[in-house]
Amino acid sequence: MIPISDIAHRLEGVKKSLLPGVNLVAVSKYHPVEALRQAYDAGQRIFGESRAAELVQKNALMPSDVEWHFIGHLQTNKLKAVIPLVSVVQSVDTEHLLQAIDAESVRIGKTTGVLLQVHVAAEESKYGFNPDELLHNIEVLCSHLKGVSVRGIMGMATNTDDIERVKADFKMLKYVFDTLKAGYFRNNPAFDTLSMGMSHDRDIAMACGSTMVRVGTDIFGDREY
Ligand SMILES: *Cc1c(COP(=O)(O)O)cnc(C)c1O
Repeated sequence: MIPISDIAHRLEGVKKSLLPGVNLVAVSKYHPVEALRQAYDAGQRIFGESRAAELVQKNALMPSDVEWHFIGHLQTNKLKAVIPLVSVVQSVDTEHLLQAIDAESVRIGKTTGVLLQVHVAAEESKYGFNPDELLHNIEVLCSHLKGVSVRGIMGMATNTDDIERVKADFKMLKYVFDTLKAGYFRNNPAFDTLSMGMSHDRDIAMACGSTMVRVGTDIFGDREY
C-alpha cells in the first residue's frame, strides 16, 4: 500500500493527464475508506466499486454527494442493496440484468444510469455483450425501459503488452459506441459515455476516443486481493 498522504498528489497527476472532456472514475475497490476520503477531500466525487457489500459499507461512511459507479459483475440478488446507492451501473452485461435493474429502479422510483458492457478483449473477461449481437439487438434490448437511462458503453481491452491489439480493441469499442450513437440513440443526448481505459492503458484509450477512464492503481496504489 502507498502512504495515504500520497493519494491527493497521485490523483492530481492523473487528472493532469486527462484529455479535455474525459471524466475520471476513481476505482476504489479493495481500498479502505480512509483512502477514498483523501481523494474526496482533494475534490474527487465519482468512485467505482465492484462488490455490493463493500459499496454498502463505504457508502455509509462517505459524504452523501459521492457518485458511485458500479463496475463489477452484478448479480440480480444484489440489486436491492446496490440500486438505491449508485448513479451508474457500468457493467450491464446481459438483457436479464438490464431488465432487473429497470424493474428495481421503477419499484423504488429512481432513474438509474447504465452502461452496456461490451466484450472485445481476447481472453480477459467472459462478461459483456458481443459487439455484433449488441448492434443487432439494441432495439429489442432497450425499447421498453422505464427506470433506466442508457448512458453509453463500457469495455476493457485485452491485457497485453501488444499495443496494436489494445488499440484494435479500443477502436472496436469506439465503433460500437459511434454506431449506436448515430443510430438507435441519435435522438438521445444522454447517450454520451464511452467508458474505456484503466491505469495502464488509459492514454491509448483516450487517443481512441474514450470519454471516461476508470483508474484505480495509479491513484490508490496496488490492491490486496
Ligand atoms: C479494477 C478495475 C479498474 C481499475 O483498474 P486499475 O488497473 O487499478 O486502474 C477499471 N475497470 C474495471 C472494470 C475494474 O474492474
